[in-house]
Amino acid sequence: MTAIEQFTDHILHSNYPVFFTGAGISTNSGIPDFRGPKGFWKTNTPIMFQDFMSQESMRIKYWTQSVEFKSNFKEKIPNEGHAIISEIINSKKAGHCITQNVDNLHQKSGLDDALVTELHGNATFAVCLNCKKRFELSFIHEEFKSTNKPPKCDSCNGWIKTATISFGQPMPEDKMIIAHEETLKADVFIVAGSSLSVFPAANFPLIAKENDAKLLIVNNEETQFDHFADVLIHDDISKTFSNLKITH
Ligand SMILES: [Zn+2]
Repeated sequence: MTAIEQFTDHILHSNYPVFFTGAGISTNSGIPDFRGPKGFWKTNTPIMFQDFMSQESMRIKYWTQSVEFKSNFKEKIPNEGHAIISEIINSKKAGHCITQNVDNLHQKSGLDDALVTELHGNATFAVCLNCKKRFELSFIHEEFKSTNKPPKCDSCNGWIKTATISFGQPMPEDKMIIAHEETLKADVFIVAGSSLSVFPAANFPLIAKENDAKLLIVNNEETQFDHFADVLIHDDISKTFSNLKITH
């Protein structure tokens, strides 16, 4: 059997497939790998969470960057990779998607919010850091552009920030717990487009493997866990996923 046939076979026989996705799945939607070697954060200094909380000038810089950054996500659409993941989970009515991405494309491709665990948050809206109230980015951006004042929550006066996890900001404990529980439910765990280099998130494939799940890895480049994979494909995700022979 070829690697693609083995991959297909594992997916077809899976009762609870759990996907773990990273930047590589969204590059075909025109979203660059922000943390990668040529990424946004290699040429722009990220604002550390502690600085955002303690310094007004950093909050202003943060929102100035955010207005600029917005064009990276605006009107981006899911690609074949996202579409096939949601098709598999929705047709089986079982499974889950854990993602390191903040682009909202899994939800846009038809996965219910409850089926997607975003370890690094979501860049398409903002939240109050104190009471968690949600704000639409376009509204916040318009207000910031006209006042040049960092936005504050209209309910509790807390600071508003995009719903992403910033550098220096602790990983969201509730999401880590859900991701861990979902990983333990997996009989097949599929890594798609993650170099598995950001910890602690990168531990999930190992947890799945130790729990007797099959580990399938599709990534453009090598990962440090390649030798644990039951099926390993070093290729484009959209191309690989559209070659899966999954019929319903
Ligand atoms: Zn608030």
